[in-house]
Amino acid sequence: MMLMPPFNLHHPNTVEEACELASSFIANEESFDWVAGGTDILPNYKWHINVKKHVISLAKIAGLDTISMHEIGAMARLGALTTSDSVHPLIASAASKIASSLVRNNATVGGNICLDTRCFWINQSEDWRRSIDWCHKEDCGTGSDCRVIPNQNTLCVATYQGDLAPSLIVLEGTIHIIGPHGPREVPAEAFFQLDGITRNILEEGEFVLKVTFPQGVENRVGSYKKLRVRESWDFPEAGVASSWIRGDPSSLRIASTALESIPRSHQAEIDAFDESFSSELINPLSEAIMKSIKPVNNTALPPRYRKSMVRVLAKRSLREILGDSS
Ligand SMILES: Cc1cc2nc3c(=O)[nH]c(=O)nc-3n(C[C@H](O)[C@H](O)[C@H](O)COP(=O)(O)OP(=O)(O)OC[C@H]3O[C@@H](n4cnc5c(N)ncnc54)[C@H](O)[C@@H]3O)c2cc1C
Ligand code: SF4
Repeated sequence: MMLMPPFNLHHPNTVEEACELASSFIANEESFDWVAGGTDILPNYKWHINVKKHVISLAKIAGLDTISMHEIGAMARLGALTTSDSVHPLIASAASKIASSLVRNNATVGGNICLDTRCFWINQSEDWRRSIDWCHKEDCGTGSDCRVIPNQNTLCVATYQGDLAPSLIVLEGTIHIIGPHGPREVPAEAFFQLDGITRNILEEGEFVLKVTFPQGVENRVGSYKKLRVRESWDFPEAGVASSWIRGDPSSLRIASTALESIPRSHQAEIDAFDESFSSELINPLSEAIMKSIKPVNNTALPPRYRKSMVRVLAKRSLREILGDSS
């Protein structure tokens, strides 16, 4: 049986209270996590993965659940996005492909963006992980190596399997952060950090407040294609989002997820072609995107298959936004 380990749950009512709580834990060198909907972190806690002494819930802070074309609060529930008329259709579509309706009713946008990375060597019970003498992501003081990239215990290559991030990137979203040292904001693609343990650029005590989108985002046509084992609720094994403003070839944006420790923008692959976005560009561009990614063997499907499916997903996504039915 996997029992929830003990921790102290805190419920601040305002952003300021949340920042003060975080500051006091940092000052006292006490470990803590944020919790939003709890659909990712609580299963991890039940598996005794990186359990902290304190957990700060964002659930009682008013005003963090905005949903509009230009702003989505961190506490907006994924279920609410799928039924909203005001959110960008690409966000509604990507959200509807996440987990099951039961999970989506609790799961939040902030939790999805900050989702922990996954790997079949860590997302296991404590007894199972003890039996293989742990791994670098939670080594329990043993200095264990990474099981995926062996003979090193400096880098974790666990896979980021959040579904929303590529859509936030191709809609040119900005992530707004708050913490003990005040607010700051970064473009969505700059939020993530290529390390399966640190995952993103959040400093200790910081949390995500909201995502905003530029004026004109409503003119973007978008598409998100996802590969998963079971259509009913599985995490992505690969995902590709694209968007553009019809008639403006320079507006094309493509991003992928579930292929390494971060979601990735494919602007470099787009910029390497001198051609306008047309049906002729779809095959070579999809091929270039496939070549640019290097999935590792730590999710349900083999990396070679996931890599080859990236080309297929990119083609399908690009055809959809171009309105090409061939
Ligand atoms: C059966 C099942 C299927 C799933 N399938 C999918 C899937 O297909 N696609 C997918 O993307 N996800 C999937 N998930 C994962 C998860 O449900 C979602 O990603 C969800 O959006 C996480 O949101 P949450 O609010 O529950 O996060 P939580 O569990 O509360 O938090 C997740 C992480 O983010 C941190 N966090 C939360 N909010 C913030 C914030 N505002 N600022 C900073 N850090 C924060 C937490 O500390 C924690 O590390 C699945 C989960 C389950 C149980
Ligand atoms: S990638 Fe390596 S260090 Fe990270 S969770 Fe997997 S086995 Fe552990």
